[in-house]
Amino acid sequence: MKITRLSTYRVAPRWMFLKIETDEGVVGWGEPVIEGRARTVEAAVHELGEQLVGKDPARINDHWQVMYRGGFYRGGAVFMSALAGIDQALWDIKGKALGVPVYQLLGGLVRDRMKTYCWVGGDRPADIIEQIRARVALGYDTFKLNACEEMPLLAPSRTIDAAVAKVAEIREAFGQSIEFGLDFHGRVGWPMAKTLIRELEPYRPLFIEEPVLAEQAEYYPRLAEQTAIPLAAGERMFSRTEFKSVFAAGGLSIVQPDLSHAGGITECMKIAAMAEAHDVALAPHCPLGPVALAACLHVDFASWNAVLQEQSIGIHYNADGELLDYVRNKDAFTLHNGSMLPFTQPGLGVEIDEEVVVERARRAGDWRNPLWRHEDGSVAEW
Ligand SMILES: [Mg+2]
Repeated sequence: MKITRLSTYRVAPRWMFLKIETDEGVVGWGEPVIEGRARTVEAAVHELGEQLVGKDPARINDHWQVMYRGGFYRGGAVFMSALAGIDQALWDIKGKALGVPVYQLLGGLVRDRMKTYCWVGGDRPADIIEQIRARVALGYDTFKLNACEEMPLLAPSRTIDAAVAKVAEIREAFGQSIEFGLDFHGRVGWPMAKTLIRELEPYRPLFIEEPVLAEQAEYYPRLAEQTAIPLAAGERMFSRTEFKSVFAAGGLSIVQPDLSHAGGITECMKIAAMAEAHDVALAPHCPLGPVALAACLHVDFASWNAVLQEQSIGIHYNADGELLDYVRNKDAFTLHNGSMLPFTQPGLGVEIDEEVVVERARRAGDWRNPLWRHEDGSVAEW
């Protein structure tokens, strides 16, 4: 079997699909993207993909190394996201060619179902209680929300109190019938992270995500030292080498590599194994589409330390395109009391509705993340 063509489709809300075709008619799908920089990743996919045309798709490990080590300059958000989507599509082809789901090729199931959680609240959290209530009715009991809006390096006490009051309200409304993680989203710097975490402690969130930016990862062990709340991060780390130093320094209880940003299934299985060796849980980041989610789930189903799977159904970003819009076998994504079951079809198990993909790609816009500014006019982290 030989790879004949790579085609990309940028689609709403902010995603990109990659189709890899072969001379034997087997087709694989991947989802290489950086949200807000899709065209940049698209260029990288085609540049990296040139060297795959005419090659046997089965040699995933070698192709991965060629795309990584074969470039003198490697790593980072753009290259590793391009590589991730190509890697996913190659696993999809391998599974389809051999007639088995990808998790079988990763050693088989370690669990029967995988717990997922969903987002509530959007960028500027309001009416959160109502949103949680509506999703509890759908079977969810685990949620994630942004802990705050813009947070200057030095914030007034009322800003901290407003963030804490919102969390207190949730605990009061639902008690321990639900759990929730709080995403600081890199909005909080080290000076305020200490205070905010301390004030949130009584409400026992399931985890705090990106308590400071991954760029300030040296603070993770110091923050972990002061709190019993598990700290999570990883959506902005792109390879084993980036996770290596974080594991060595300690501080994180949960790592959240993104299967569409951190080198795909091949790399994230290795990151998962590194995490397991450090007694660190895995909760892949995935506010993306169906192929990315499927890739996450195959890793989750084959990784003992996978604890929670993010997924984007109903997420605030999906205003003009939903995960299931692009899928023919929608039943494969059915939630069972907030959990998902292993896919049964060969490959990644997602039947992409190519007509919809092609049609939506014709009128896809260029999503950009909001640009926020502090009251004084300086740029704020979003
Ligand atoms: Mg996050």
